[in-house]
Amino acid sequence: MFDYQLKKSKRRKTVAIKIYNQTVTVFAPHYVPIKQIDSWLLEKQHWIETQLKKQLNVIDTKQYPIEKNKIKIFSESVELIFREGPSSDVKEHNNALYVTHSSRVKNYKNKYESLIKRYLEEKLAAYVEMRIAFYCEKMDEVLPKKLTLAVYKRRWGSCNSKRELSFNLHLIGAPHRIIDYVIVHELAHLRYLNHSKQFWDRVEIFYPDYNVVVN
Ligand SMILES: [Zn+2]
Repeated sequence: MFDYQLKKSKRRKTVAIKIYNQTVTVFAPHYVPIKQIDSWLLEKQHWIETQLKKQLNVIDTKQYPIEKNKIKIFSESVELIFREGPSSDVKEHNNALYVTHSSRVKNYKNKYESLIKRYLEEKLAAYVEMRIAFYCEKMDEVLPKKLTLAVYKRRWGSCNSKRELSFNLHLIGAPHRIIDYVIVHELAHLRYLNHSKQFWDRVEIFYPDYNVVVN
């Protein structure tokens, strides 16, 4: 089985798992015996290992996870097809991304990278903007002031007191439900700029599975 960190607390009433940066942390009420936690984790082992693998795929890469001419978009593997054409562009069709460089381009590799990067950024931005609008309405929250997408090494998203939200570009490789979770998490910070009990309660209302996804 995997290693995990155990955090016991007197206030807590339920057991929860947090998986972040390849570390599994279990939060439990102080009275729950280790044996019980272990058997509970054993039941969830398959799920936890899947999560660890998924996170590894998404966050541990410095650039987009391009591998053997495949790329992950919303957790689907998409084939990359490079070709020359009259103008540079990117088109997605039947689980393949057609990356075309114009015949005038000298440095194909750089051009391909910048084309793919822009395509993925636009795609993630469109999804995140749509879901922010959706959740803002549900959460009765005014839209954030600013939205930034960038590559961050250690976080999926952030929120500050100026109501500016940022999201990690690597989220493009994650399943929609994880992106939604990160969105709800950051939107909940608009009201509570901390990880207090009220904050987590608010996350749980709008994303009930929060304790078994990422932080
Ligand atoms: Zn947070």
